[in-house]
Parts: sequence; C-alpha cells; structure tokens
Amino acid sequence: TIGTNFARIAARFPDREALIEAAADGGADAARRWTFAELAHDVDAAARGLLAAGVGQGDRVGIWSPNCAEWTILQYATAVIGAILVNVNPAYRSHELVFVVKQNGMRMLVVAPSDRTSEYVGMAREALAVCPDLRELVFLPVPHTGSAGFEAGIPSTPGETTWEALVARAGEVPASAVAERAATLTAEDPINIQYTSGTTGFPKGATLTHRNILNNGYSIGELLEYTEADRVVIPVPFYHCFGMVIGNLAAYSHGCATILPGRGFKPDATLRAVQDFGGTSLYGVPTMFIAELALPDFSSYRLGTLRTGVMAGSLCPIEVMKRVISDMHMEDVAICYGMTETSPVSTMTRDGDTLAQRTETVGRTMPNLESKIVDAAGATVERGVIGELCTRGYAVMAGYWDQPDKTAEAIDAEGWMHTGDLARMDADGYLLIEGRIKDMVIRGGENIYPREVEEFLYQHPSIQDVQVIGVPDPKYGEELMACIILKPGAEELSAEDVGAYCRGRLAHYKVPRYVDIRESFPMTVSGKIRKVQMREEAVERLG
Ligand code: ATP
Ligand code: MG
Repeated sequence: TIGTNFARIAARFPDREALIEAAADGGADAARRWTFAELAHDVDAAARGLLAAGVGQGDRVGIWSPNCAEWTILQYATAVIGAILVNVNPAYRSHELVFVVKQNGMRMLVVAPSDRTSEYVGMAREALAVCPDLRELVFLPVPHTGSAGFEAGIPSTPGETTWEALVARAGEVPASAVAERAATLTAEDPINIQYTSGTTGFPKGATLTHRNILNNGYSIGELLEYTEADRVVIPVPFYHCFGMVIGNLAAYSHGCATILPGRGFKPDATLRAVQDFGGTSLYGVPTMFIAELALPDFSSYRLGTLRTGVMAGSLCPIEVMKRVISDMHMEDVAICYGMTETSPVSTMTRDGDTLAQRTETVGRTMPNLESKIVDAAGATVERGVIGELCTRGYAVMAGYWDQPDKTAEAIDAEGWMHTGDLARMDADGYLLIEGRIKDMVIRGGENIYPREVEEFLYQHPSIQDVQVIGVPDPKYGEELMACIILKPGAEELSAEDVGAYCRGRLAHYKVPRYVDIRESFPMTVSGKIRKVQMREEAVERLG
C-alpha cells in the first residue's frame, strides 16, 4: 500500500528533502521545506488527527484547494488510514461542489482559504448545510503568513475546524493506532476518487486503488530514471492525476524531492522555482510550456539543472518540443498519454526516442499494460489503421464511483478500458493519437479528423493556435469551423482567406467553411480545450 511504501522511503532517506512549497513568486524566501523524516512526522500527526476526528476506513475525505504542502500531507495521511481521498476541482463553484460531495457521500472536506478568485470558505459552508453526509469542514492555513490558520480565528461553529486544530488532535489517539489501521489495508482497497477533466461532459469519479496508482507512479519514475538526487517541479494541479500520481507518487517512490512553485500556475514562478531549487524535472501540459517559453525574460532564468520532465494531456506542437529540449535543457522529456481511468499513464516515450517519436507519437505501452486498437465492431485492426484505443492491466480503475452502468460501458468483460480516443499503432508499437471519437466530424459521409486540419492550419504564418470543430449543417450533416487565435499583431483572417490558403493543398471537404477568430479557448483546469463548449457556442452564434 501507499502508506507502507511511504514509510519505507522515509526511513531510507530521512534527511533528504522531500517537499518544498516555494513562496508565491516561486522563490526560496519564505519557502516551506520538509525532509522525509519531517514529512513522515507530519503525515503521522495528520493521520492520527483524522482518526481522532472519527474518519473510518473507506470514508471519503475531500480536498478542495490549489496545490499546497498540506495537500501532499493529506494524500499520504488518508492513504495510511485507508480513507479515500477525493480530489475536488479547485475551479468548481458551489453548484458543482455540492454535486461532487453528494455523488460520493463525502464525510469531511478540507478547504483552501478564500482568495481573490474564490470564496472557497463560503461555498463550503453552503455545501455543509445542504449535504447530510458531510460532517466536517477543515480550513487550511493562509499561505506563507505563518498565521494559525483561518483569517477569522479558530472557527467555533460546529462542523468547522482548522487544519492546525485537526492535527493537534493527534494526541487523542495512541501512536500505535495508525499502524493498526494500516495493517488491515490491502492493495485492492480504493484510495482515491479522481474526477475526470470534464472535457466531454460532466466529470466522472474514477475509483482508484493502491495497486492502480502506486504501481503507475512507480513505473513512471522508473522510466524517467528518477533517483533520490532528482527534484521534481510540479506546477500542474494535484486535483488531477498528473499532479498526484505522475508528480507525487512517481517522485516519492524514488526518494525525490517535490517542489511546488506557488499556488495556481504562473509561468514566471515556475521557472523561478526551477532556478532557485535546482529542479531536475519539470511537468506541464503543452500550453504551460508555451507560456514559459514566451516569457519576455525567459533567457534570464538559469535552467541548467533540468534534465527531464513530463508533458501530457494533449499533443505538443513540434516547435515547442524542440525548444523544450534545447532551450530548457530537458533532453529526456517524456510524453505521457493516458486518462484518469487508467491511473493515468498507459503509454509513454522513453529515453532515446527520436524527436519525431516524441512529437508525433505518445510512445509505447507502459510495462505490464496492454494496448490494442479496435474498429467499431470491436475487432483488432491492422497496424497503422485508425480505431479506438483500448487499455488493459493493473492500471485500469476499479470503476466509476457509484455508477455501475457507466463502468460497464467503459470496461468490457475482458477488462479492456475503452478510451474513447482514436489512435493508430505503428509497426514498432508506438501509438499515434488522432483525437477523440466524439470530436470526429462526419461531413457528407466523409470522416474528418480535426487534428489533421489543425496541424495543417498551424503552419499559417498568422495563426498562433487553432481548433477545428464540427457544427451542424442541414445539407452535409456537419460542416467544419476553424476557431483561431491570431498571433499578436497579425491581420484579421476571414473564412475566404482560410479557404484560399487551404484550396489545392487539402481535400475540398476538409476546408473549413467557417472561421471564428477568438482571444482564447475554453479550458478545463487540467489544461484541456473544451471543444464541447466551443461547439455549443458556435451553434448559438450561427443561429
Ligand atoms: P472527460 O472524460 O471528463 O470528458 P478527459 O477525458 O479530458 O475528460 P482526463 O482523464 O483528464 O479527462 O483526460 C484523458 C484524455 O486526455 C484522454 O482520453 C485523451 O483524449 C487526452 N490525452 C491525454 N494525454 C494525451 C496526450 N499525450 N496526447 C493527446 N491527448 C491526450
Ligand atoms: Mg475521458
């Protein structure tokens, strides 16, 4: 289990740094730091505090917060006592919070202090009032003030406490209580409910076990060749498995330090943290790397300690990958593909893969997992043919929490998780992701993969970013719309301009009929573009 493994690592590397929360600007002044021994101490105190508060095995404990050190502590503390940690999207507002709390019958919710962008505390109180299973709110300390927690002092309202007060209850239970509980746990116990990003609809809660995520995290760390000398900078959200598994679990299982560059993603704070703490590995979705490389003072950051990292979540444009490798020194950067339902990583590039393999493919299947590509009838297709990617093995979730019908739709009788992604497998076993089945456009009977049109338009000198979607059309069923973000200072592009650029170079049916110039694309918190929302907006706009 995660608890026993954590204890073993902490005993092996007691004096090495385990966790650093940088200051808000990513710097070392006022940073909070833990060695493995100190972290193990705080994890034990939090675990006993949870036991004293009556948290039982299998009880759901939520956390609703941007990344912070307490997040990591709570992740391990819930693991050692067999409580199920529920990651609540920090972008949620009261309606979605109540939905999630009720969906999994959450008992306790650990809440970030309110900040300028979110009234977390007020919304959590609303949820407490309307969700009968939810019995206790725990307010996290205000970052870097050194204050004892909550702005308004220790709350006296029933059902509310502070993180400090919870941890202070450790003394109420004997030191042996945690070990006794840990001894009853098995690798098959659920440890985490992680909600999917909600790119294609309402998020689904994937129930993940110790076996699922600990093995996946460990394997990722192995392929990245992590050792206790590595220092992993994690600007991606913990609420998503990218932060929690590819980040925390891959790192701690190899004795690495994790470094949190402030709360919420800031490109400058992220690079500052790499520089000030000697980061050797940096994570991000492609848009984060794009933002870091675009900083006006990019070249002033000293990034020479970097050697590797992970890019995941969506495909990376080749120009960006080249600069990540050369200008950020991340020679061994890996591309990971996966989904929340597979813990998450099912395929990954390896050391020695070529630039083409690291931009056009998502690598090969992870050790101890299987991949296959099937057609609409479920038969495995020939190499090179596009079909639905399916994954099988230890990493496939136990199921969607309390949604047996959805689970049965996703995981078939032979244990294959149907990803909903279109992919091809080349002769060497590398996988190429072609987009989601739901995003495929069928125009007049022709299948169009938006990614192919996007890659083509990306070469246009005025286009900074482009997403191609299908919009309803009475004649053809669907028509293509190119949603475009222009480069700064570039001239406006009309549908005619784009049509003229495509004609003679793309088959006529792939030429977008509509063009929508936008400032930005709607994104999920995990950095994915919500094409569903863009389609809805387009339908409204076209009337
Ligand atoms: P929802 O299932 O709620 O609609 P989601 O599928 O975006 O949201 P996640 O589990 O966070 O939720 O993301 C998994 C998906 O992300 C994959 O199914 C795939 O479409 C996409 N993805 C992940 N990694 C990559 C990658 N390296 N390249 C391309 N796409 C990727
Ligand atoms: Mg999904």
